[in-house]
Amino acid sequence: MPTSPSEAHDSSAFDLAVVGAGPAGLAAAVTAADLGLRCVLLDGGPSTGGQYYRHPAPGLGAARPDRLHHHWSAYTGLAERLAAHEGAGRAAFRGGHQVWALERTGDGFAVHVTRGPESTDRATVRARSVLLATGAYERQLPFPGWTLPGVVTAGGAQAMLKAGLVLPGRRIVVAGSGPLLLAAASSLVTAGAEVPAVVEATAYLGYARRPGVLASVPGKLVEGAGHGGALLRHGVRLRPRSAVVEAHGTDRVTGVTVARLDADWRPVPGTERRIDCDALAVGHGLLPQIDLATELGARTRTGPDGAVALEVDARLRTSVPGLWSAGETNGVGGADLALAEGELAAHAVAGALPTAPLLRRRARLRAFAELMAAAHRPGPGWTGWLRPDTDVCRCEEVPVSAVREAVDELGAGDPRTVKLLTRAGMGWCQGRMCGPAVACLAGSVVASGPDRRPLGCPVPLSQLAAGPSAEFDDRP
Ligand SMILES: Cc1cc2nc3c(=O)[nH]c(=O)nc-3n(C[C@H](O)[C@H](O)[C@H](O)COP(=O)(O)OP(=O)(O)OC[C@H]3O[C@@H](n4cnc5c(N)ncnc54)[C@H](O)[C@@H]3O)c2cc1C
Repeated sequence: MPTSPSEAHDSSAFDLAVVGAGPAGLAAAVTAADLGLRCVLLDGGPSTGGQYYRHPAPGLGAARPDRLHHHWSAYTGLAERLAAHEGAGRAAFRGGHQVWALERTGDGFAVHVTRGPESTDRATVRARSVLLATGAYERQLPFPGWTLPGVVTAGGAQAMLKAGLVLPGRRIVVAGSGPLLLAAASSLVTAGAEVPAVVEATAYLGYARRPGVLASVPGKLVEGAGHGGALLRHGVRLRPRSAVVEAHGTDRVTGVTVARLDADWRPVPGTERRIDCDALAVGHGLLPQIDLATELGARTRTGPDGAVALEVDARLRTSVPGLWSAGETNGVGGADLALAEGELAAHAVAGALPTAPLLRRRARLRAFAELMAAAHRPGPGWTGWLRPDTDVCRCEEVPVSAVREAVDELGAGDPRTVKLLTRAGMGWCQGRMCGPAVACLAGSVVASGPDRRPLGCPVPLSQLAAGPSAEFDDRP
């Protein structure tokens, strides 16, 4: 149950801790403070904005960060409102605070964070409610040569440009599946890169299945047309129903082989052609980042693209009492949806009624998100471009042959057993990169259920051994 503002200000616990300061978390924190809740907004990164409003590192002295973004004024408006709430003591933003675990306590939650260089310091934030807005990470499907220098993720290329003002190469092939490819390609060409091709595994036909849903989100159509226009102006060739099936090079990528795919994403023999490049930006959609909630037992659902997201009700409550979720954690749908859900969830936490237009906007954008997910669902045939020596788990250098041996000869029928037999998923990223691929090779087309990771991020053993952490000090 939400607490009244007056009760809240008497207590050292926050009314609401928001984890993740991307569009969803930022909108939630500002709205919650507007509605009188005392709120703390935590993010592992140094500033607010998340993936969409990622901005240049301060030392780069970027004069016009807005030129790398759409809807920049939406971000600056929220940032100004947050600053006003911080000034009035209603909200606190803490960057560099990575949440590694959530724990239920008698009257709310203990939110465990690491902070400081190398995560050398720990603290515990107390809050009556928690809103999870931790976003998503990219789904990687391996192919021969995917570990070569110069091969980056599509979102990684965007992040290099937005945060570092650098390009991953001069001639960059963009490949994989999902709307992020068009956004990345359009940013890269606008920033001066040559993009010889955008290689998309689907034929985009899935979008035509529900014209009513498409028509209800004109903003998305305008955004898509904007990206398409940029690609046309720069002569970028769009290759639908195709994939990069191999990256070539020794010290660095020097080219890629692109092949046509059938409807199941199986490469069609005889259609291969080589494209020279010095970088490849590749990604196959996004996967919700939900470890903190699944560790508390929150119920999940599998979306139309096979990605596992949190199950929430109409007011964005998870199945864990006191735990809300907004944005990509509820299924990947873009920044506008994240903003709407942040606002909606904050209303729910505060016990306030959202406006009808907000509810309608969220419903339209969520329906579009489901359509988008279905349109870009990976086909099972992608494993046809693997070779026995292709690394599946790059942290532990586990090749396809070892995973296939575990499945075909040793009887592993799920990713966990494959992990125990091969070490795939035991490395630094804890299976975030190889998980979907291993699940597929173990027999399921896409991830079969939520991953369980007791720690939401790597925490030094010295920190865990150091005993109880300090109580969070609200003062800047
Ligand atoms: C690498 C990448 C690049 C992207 N680039 C674009 C793009 O250019 N254009 C576009 O339209 N969409 C892009 N997207 C999609 C985009 O993320 C969303 O549509 C939008 O930003 C979602 O907002 P969100 O608030 O749900 O999550 P996000 O914006 O992802 O914000 C989540 C925030 O949570 C923080 N966080 C996560 N875990 C923790 C933790 N344990 N403790 C503390 N903080 C945590 C993160 O640091 C991040 O700031 C990108 C996605 C990714 C993964």
